[in-house]
Amino acid sequence: LVSRKKKQEDTLIQLGSTVIGGGTPVMIAGPCSVESYEQVRQVAAALKEAGITVMRGGAFKPRTSPYDFQGLGVEGLKILKEVASEFGLKTISEIVDPAHIELACEYIDVIQIGARNMQNFELLKAAGDVQTPVLLKRGLAATIDEFVHAAEYIVSRGNTQVMLIERGIRTYEKATRNTLDISAVPILKQETHLPVLVDVTHSTGRKDILAPCARAALAAGADGVMVEVHPDPATALSDAAQQLNIPEFHDFLANVRKSGLL
Ligand code: PEP
Ligand code: MN
Repeated sequence: LVSRKKKQEDTLIQLGSTVIGGGTPVMIAGPCSVESYEQVRQVAAALKEAGITVMRGGAFKPRTSPYDFQGLGVEGLKILKEVASEFGLKTISEIVDPAHIELACEYIDVIQIGARNMQNFELLKAAGDVQTPVLLKRGLAATIDEFVHAAEYIVSRGNTQVMLIERGIRTYEKATRNTLDISAVPILKQETHLPVLVDVTHSTGRKDILAPCARAALAAGADGVMVEVHPDPATALSDAAQQLNIPEFHDFLANVRKSGLL
């Protein structure tokens, strides 16, 4: 069902006045984790000022260590909803439990399925049973074929509103957190009709190369880019090393916009 051979027209995801997949690339930004109302509000104000309409923020955090911050859970979703309605933004947040999918639809505009859950088939099926758009992340070491089949799980249940996001894959390379597979962008665009985005933060894990990687993603045909922004990254409860602060975010955006690709 997700194959270009089955359907030639691009799938469009409409989030308010923003359309993803229709030829106008979108920038999605926000903190790694929702930490407090005030923290999310500061980011939302910066996004609004920069003309960004879609905000991300994790409420259920799949952390490597069980001793690390696990997210605010439903309380985090409530903060996202409140701030989004104040600033007129659309929201994306990761859901990790199939039992939370229906509840998530009340609070957020896009359900993110994270890299660690790309092949959590019960979660994919639950996301396929609602009509809320889904942002599906490529698995930690998933092939493109496995990624496309994961999307097929969702669409085959009836939810056609699926976007794919390349977020880097595990290789032997240590210079970056993961290896950004730019070639996945044109391949996924050719082989599927779904919007394809690139998460520059989790793929590189390096603030110093976010702008060139975002430009590369857009030059390769990506429908959007995702980046993490935090009002005070040094104190962030997750991904402190790789989130942009607000001035850095404005610089990043200006750099990418200057290319004319965004
Ligand atoms: C995230 O986007 O918050 C995240 C945890 O990313 P990933 O699933 O790609 O590691
Ligand atoms: Mn993160």
